[in-house]
Amino acid sequence: MDARTQWALGLALPQQPMRALGHEFYTELAPQGVPQPTLRLVSDDAARLLGLQPPRDAAARAEWAEVFAGNRADPDCPALATVYAGHQFGNWAGQLGDGRAHLLGSFAAPDAAQNAGHADWDVQLKGSGRTPYARFGDGRAVLRSSLREFLCSEAMWHLGIPTTRALCLVDSPLAVQRERVERAAIVTRLAPSFVRVGHFEHFAHSGQHDALRRLLQWWIARFEPDCADADDPALALLQRVVQRSAELVAAWQAVGFVHGVLNTDNLSMLGWTLDYGPFGFVDAFDPDYTPNTSDRDGRYSWRNQPAAVHWDLHALAAALRPLLDADAARVRAVLDGFGDAFERAWRQRIAARLGMARPQPGDDALARAWIELLHRARADWTLSFRLLARAAEGPVPDALRAQFASCAPEFDAWLQRWRARQHAGGDGPDAMDRVNPRIVLRHHLAQHAIAAAESGDFAPAQALLDALRTPFADNQAHAAFAAPPPADAPPAALSCSS
Ligand code: AMP
Ligand code: MG
Repeated sequence: MDARTQWALGLALPQQPMRALGHEFYTELAPQGVPQPTLRLVSDDAARLLGLQPPRDAAARAEWAEVFAGNRADPDCPALATVYAGHQFGNWAGQLGDGRAHLLGSFAAPDAAQNAGHADWDVQLKGSGRTPYARFGDGRAVLRSSLREFLCSEAMWHLGIPTTRALCLVDSPLAVQRERVERAAIVTRLAPSFVRVGHFEHFAHSGQHDALRRLLQWWIARFEPDCADADDPALALLQRVVQRSAELVAAWQAVGFVHGVLNTDNLSMLGWTLDYGPFGFVDAFDPDYTPNTSDRDGRYSWRNQPAAVHWDLHALAAALRPLLDADAARVRAVLDGFGDAFERAWRQRIAARLGMARPQPGDDALARAWIELLHRARADWTLSFRLLARAAEGPVPDALRAQFASCAPEFDAWLQRWRARQHAGGDGPDAMDRVNPRIVLRHHLAQHAIAAAESGDFAPAQALLDALRTPFADNQAHAAFAAPPPADAPPAALSCSS
């Protein structure tokens, strides 16, 4: 018989590149599967990344549901769960791993330009059953957290922020016990790689330095081959990760996104947003905002995110130590580069959001005063930037004034300075609208979609997904998604329970 060439849904058989690393890195196993899976949501954009036609009829939807529930184990290309470790809230947590995720394989990307130039997409199921790394977990994920991950992955991508993608969401009547009994769901995620800082830490901390070296060489060959020519490849890689992590966290800060759990096992080596748990977007601006109720000290609050990512990068440097030729001072210099890289990226993003993409003296002070004013007035982060573009000339929109009602004189004084700056060479409202989203995945929007989904109605989630796909557009049909939370909406209070 001829060797098979086809996987499911007309896709060519995938590769499993991590197999080349050796058996210390993973366990081959089939997802556990779920009863009666239903395909609930598909990201058509993400489907196209794989060259997949989004399903159009009931038969195609049933086929997708089976495949992306993990019900079609393929003996010719077994799934993998990988081992990693990590520091959680600053403490060494020891061995972790893909406790409830199965890597189906690496599929060719028809358009590498859509994939930051990478040739393949790793496709991973999350919530697809227990693996040897599940520890005390049940291997499952519930509908509410899966829906949040699905929606936010796609929202972040359309905001132009590096992130893993979400292909589809499948649910099942399988009962999952959390604080209450909930429905099981599985999200299919896409990324060039799901390798985390924690993968390097696992092999460093367990003394498997040959395996650590193999991981370094494999990573460099696959994702940054030019680092191989550097005099110290591990240092060159560290520098890259420092740079892109700084740029990532600057993008989060500028859009008001708080990840919620910036442990080293959740920090992507690629510098993409990874592992959406108790995340949130800040509404009324408070620098100490965190949606994660388990984080009582605010270690991962908006204000502390840059320092948290920097801390994680020190953990990466410590893990790479056996492979580094550089002395401690050179490694420190690379790590210290984080501060400048972050500041540069953050300033550029905020300046663009304020219509000051072409720098002039005094811009930094003006931007700092705006952030302080947002804080003092507890103004809505997203709405205030968006409305500001309408205030460059003529009357100031009432909705903008209302955000600053508690410090009106300071706001007027600031606005006068800003208007003068706009006259002297501002970007104009159209350019500002292209960088100031009107719609982000606010907590109350997600909660509304979740409540409907939990009673079997996915239409609100679909409508929200549609709105999140064009966050910068002034589409009247999406006006309801642009509003700040109603005054009586409970604030985000999420735990790690998912
Ligand atoms: P997280 O806090 O979601 O980043 O997960 C931390 C670790 O716990 C990872 O190794 C996960 O794979 C694992 N984990 C979280 N929830 C579960 C679950 N329900 N079943 C198995 N493993 C889990
Ligand atoms: Mg995680």
